[in-house]
Amino acid sequence: MSSSAYAPAPESTRPTIRNEYGLFIGGKWVAPQSARYDASIDPAREQAIARVAYGDADDIARALRSARKAYERWWEPMKPASRAKYIYRIARAITERSREIAVLESMDGGKPIREARDFDIPTAASHFFYHAGWADKLEWVARAGRAPRALGVCGAIVPWNFPLLMAAWKIAPALACGNTVILKPAETTPLTALLLAQIAQDADLPPGVLNVVTGDGATGAALVAQGDLDKLAFTGSTEVGREIARAVAGRKTRLTLELGGKAAHILFADAPLDQAIEGVVRGIYFNQGHVCCAGSRLLVEESILDEVVDRLQQRIDRLRLGDPLDKNTDIGAINSRAQLERIDELVRSGVEQGATLRQQRCDLPERGYFYRASFFTNVESSHRIAREEIFGPILAVMSFRTPEEAIEKANDTPYGLSAGVWTERGSKNMAVAQQLKAGVVWCNTFNRFDPSSPFGGFRESGFGREGGIHGLREYLA
Ligand code: NAP
Ligand code: MG
Repeated sequence: MSSSAYAPAPESTRPTIRNEYGLFIGGKWVAPQSARYDASIDPAREQAIARVAYGDADDIARALRSARKAYERWWEPMKPASRAKYIYRIARAITERSREIAVLESMDGGKPIREARDFDIPTAASHFFYHAGWADKLEWVARAGRAPRALGVCGAIVPWNFPLLMAAWKIAPALACGNTVILKPAETTPLTALLLAQIAQDADLPPGVLNVVTGDGATGAALVAQGDLDKLAFTGSTEVGREIARAVAGRKTRLTLELGGKAAHILFADAPLDQAIEGVVRGIYFNQGHVCCAGSRLLVEESILDEVVDRLQQRIDRLRLGDPLDKNTDIGAINSRAQLERIDELVRSGVEQGATLRQQRCDLPERGYFYRASFFTNVESSHRIAREEIFGPILAVMSFRTPEEAIEKANDTPYGLSAGVWTERGSKNMAVAQQLKAGVVWCNTFNRFDPSSPFGGFRESGFGREGGIHGLREYLA
């Protein structure tokens, strides 16, 4: 149990939530063809929050017609500076309503309010601000000698770990480049996407420029199946990413895939240890480890292994696990029962294969999907917990003796999304970073994001970049 006894500090802002949400197509809220609605659950309370429409292939086809019309009639022909005004309006509305959106994000997905409030929502707003600024300067982005030209209609399929932020990563550059969008949010976290649709409507965004079709994986598959899509941007599992790549092969649809990861965090003996431990903790336990670029493998120089393990145990014992809407909470709820079961299954495999499990010592709430911050020692590279993405608050700790061994172990994964290096020596930092096969390498820090900085992976972590000039180019012909 934590020694510091904080009183509960529940967030007092309460968002307005409708009982039932339709689909947002052609600037209007419409009923799904199927007339089917499913509840979105608050995973910390195991309670339904609202009923959300289930969109099928007919709804997707309707959204595509609206998006195509909006592209041809209004959005693409519009002066770029005017498009920027709409995007700024959306950015400002997100900022003005940030408290309410943060609470909704925390309720629907289980993430701590502190993270939704200080990271997800401000970063989502900053993506709209940043891309609004680019809308009338795209000649600086287009490849040499080519006029910037939009692609057309873009499909965006996003996961449940950063629902609004992943939507913003795709919608903001798509709109800035003159494309129109159909967004398919994840089944377990549709509510902030629907609030974003409301914001777009309030901002008088021309009808059809942004469409939101909620549903489940089949809704996503129906969007992928639309041969008339000009671009598809997907974030999610490698498994579904592979299916999508097969489905769009040979079609005109341009594709970017942001998939899973199993990032290595390399900790040298000469690292600033206090900061490094904080970085490691933030790197894996942020958002309950539901982070594609989470530092889920820790490689520690052998001479400091025992000290690092002791410090990690002390540090996780002080993390506060509980109500995501409590401002003191560090570890919120696991997003769904299915994800909790997946984490549990992988952790049991780690124990069975001979690794040593260490967990945060604390009580779990009586209701809700929760999992203690955990790490494994005595991990071998062949263990499932060292190879598979767990997508939960579980760290695999391993050791190394030389920088060469650290690099080899770090690269021993089919993924290549992110990595981290901790050492006080700048030259060593740079030399190691250059040899890591990862799209993003953080040096003496972790999980830093900025809309101007491209993000994306190699190998089974996908391809294409989101953010910055590189990200904009993915939305231009
Ligand atoms: P997922 O199944 O890949 O889901 C991602 C998105 O794709 C969701 O909107 C999902 O809809 C949709 N989808 C599912 N099946 C589809 C299909 N056949 N065609 C088109 N779209 C489809 O990922 P998940 O189930 O949420 O999580 C499973 C694992 O994926 C996690 O344990 C983790 O390893 C990985 N993951 C990675 C990231 C990342 O940021 N790279 C994010 C989330 C998950 P529904 O959610 O409505 O089914
Ligand atoms: Mg939910």
